[in-house]
Amino acid sequence: MIKKHDCKEELRQVNLKVTPARLGVLAALESASSPLDTGNLTSYLSGHGIKVDRVTVFRIINILTDRGLAKPVLFDDGKLRYDYGSRPEHHHFVCEKCGRVEMVSNCVLKPLEKKLQKTKGFFIRRHSLEFFGLCAKCLK
Ligand SMILES: [Zn+2]
Ligand SMILES: [Zn+2]
Repeated sequence: MIKKHDCKEELRQVNLKVTPARLGVLAALESASSPLDTGNLTSYLSGHGIKVDRVTVFRIINILTDRGLAKPVLFDDGKLRYDYGSRPEHHHFVCEKCGRVEMVSNCVLKPLEKKLQKTKGFFIRRHSLEFFGLCAKCLK
């Protein structure tokens, strides 16, 4: 039998106490098809019977980011959103007309990272790449 993914285990692995709110935030990030902001997360939690204010959500998301369970994503509207940290590396396409966000897989930047580390002596921890334009629906 295939064991279902366990968010509790994920929290324990990074030495975080399991709380309903932390679990809820992780579950929201994992099930979302595009990155969420703290407002989205707060309403997800209250929709699941977990009453927390936005400040608490903000604190939780910061801890999760710190431990690598969440990844911050910045689109050009300047609003910080968060992605599930354990998702395989991917990038995003943002439609400038309808605001729809799609994941784009197949990162081709690793060789460039390696080259920069070698030629410039940088230590690169992560990179961020977002595409902006019109989605297929808006082009019709
Ligand atoms: Zn669109
Ligand atoms: Zn990449």
